[in-house]
Amino acid sequence: MINFSLSKEQEKIKEEHRAFAQQYITPNAAKYDQLKEFPWEIHNAIYDEGMEFGQIPKKFGGHGHSILDQAIATEEFGAGCCGIGISLDATVLGMTPWIIGASDEQMKKFVGELKEIKGAAAYCLTEPNAGSDVAAIKTTALKKGNEYILNGHKRFITNAEVSTYMTVFAITDPNRGARSLTAFIVKTDSPGIEIKPRMRKMGQNASVQNEVIFTDVKIPEFNRIGNEGMGFIYAMKTFDRTRTGVAALALGGARSAYEISKDWAKKRIQFGKPISSNQAIGFMLADMATKVELARLMTWKAAWYYDQGLKTPGTLSAMAKMYASDIAMEVATDAVQIMGGDGYSTDFPVEKIMRDVKLTQIYEGTNQIQRLVISKGILK
Ligand SMILES: Cc1cc2nc3c(=O)[nH]c(=O)nc-3n(C[C@H](O)[C@H](O)[C@H](O)COP(=O)(O)OP(=O)(O)OC[C@H]3O[C@@H](n4cnc5c(N)ncnc54)[C@H](O)[C@@H]3O)c2cc1C
Repeated sequence: MINFSLSKEQEKIKEEHRAFAQQYITPNAAKYDQLKEFPWEIHNAIYDEGMEFGQIPKKFGGHGHSILDQAIATEEFGAGCCGIGISLDATVLGMTPWIIGASDEQMKKFVGELKEIKGAAAYCLTEPNAGSDVAAIKTTALKKGNEYILNGHKRFITNAEVSTYMTVFAITDPNRGARSLTAFIVKTDSPGIEIKPRMRKMGQNASVQNEVIFTDVKIPEFNRIGNEGMGFIYAMKTFDRTRTGVAALALGGARSAYEISKDWAKKRIQFGKPISSNQAIGFMLADMATKVELARLMTWKAAWYYDQGLKTPGTLSAMAKMYASDIAMEVATDAVQIMGGDGYSTDFPVEKIMRDVKLTQIYEGTNQIQRLVISKGILK
């Protein structure tokens, strides 16, 4: 039987995250867009309100949220500001390979430590010559005694400069290449790690990215997640979970752009009547509302499938990420159009949403790569 109503617990998650977004995120969105700084006050507020580690199992100090719970929460943060939302979610991204493959001992140590110091985490996969092509990773972690020696170059790493731990993907055997890809939990202040100056970019300015250079960094064997060679599977399983999160973030941005431009269209008078009374504007709003609804359905379905352990979660989460981020860009562009010159002005929020949601079509796999994943899934 199909049921679209949320459980009491999910309604609570939605209300709590909406209230948090209204108190901390929305009022600070324009400020951090200008500042281009990591929003420490909001990151700390997540801890102070006891809302950290949504998806981490309860036995390790998290909330044990399902992927659907997390999608509901992330839509609210995205509606407040995609940049601040991704800053907070990047810690979850960094910890997702831990949820998938880390031992209980590792979870206790690393989650416990982050909780204690209100720390942030980062996910360290992309390299200058390994973007869409993850299998081209060249960073090495070569075993020496009971340590690994890490050398390489990562790029576009969200939260790198503010993180306590980074989850780094490296090959342990250059002859086996990506088949030896392995995930490690690496302390960001380890000797031999150089964090390069922050990336300058178009939007999502409340989130920070850096290149990271590793030179003979020592990693204790204890910090390896799972066995050698499990890295590629962990990276892909991470995306199966987190692409639904990117979909929810984009959906939140689209919802805000739609709502702001709808309210505007009802109030803005031209030719003696609200512009919303023109069918040209009314039809644009109708299309925007429909796209937002469809993106939410797709996102919730992908999340629900994952949570039920049903087949093809990877295909569905790729569909959700692709669809929600594509329509977010369309909806935000239409919102700017509906608001005319004011839509283009930085005095109003929709131009920022348009810049912010563009990135959701690019990270965690571009939408061309999502189409590749989907076509492989449906044709196999
Ligand atoms: C702001 C930001 C934050 C990020 N955060 C992180 C992070 O925290 N951790 C991390 O590891 N990475 C992160 N990334 C990296 C991100 O995931 C990559 O940028 C993305 O996967 C694309 O890789 P690329 O930029 O190298 O593009 P490329 O792989 O060079 O692709 C360029 C273009 O070619 C297309 N293309 C490539 N291959 C194919 C193909 N086979 N078929 C069709 N089209 C193709 C792509 O779709 C794209 O349009 C971030 C990136 C940005 C910009």
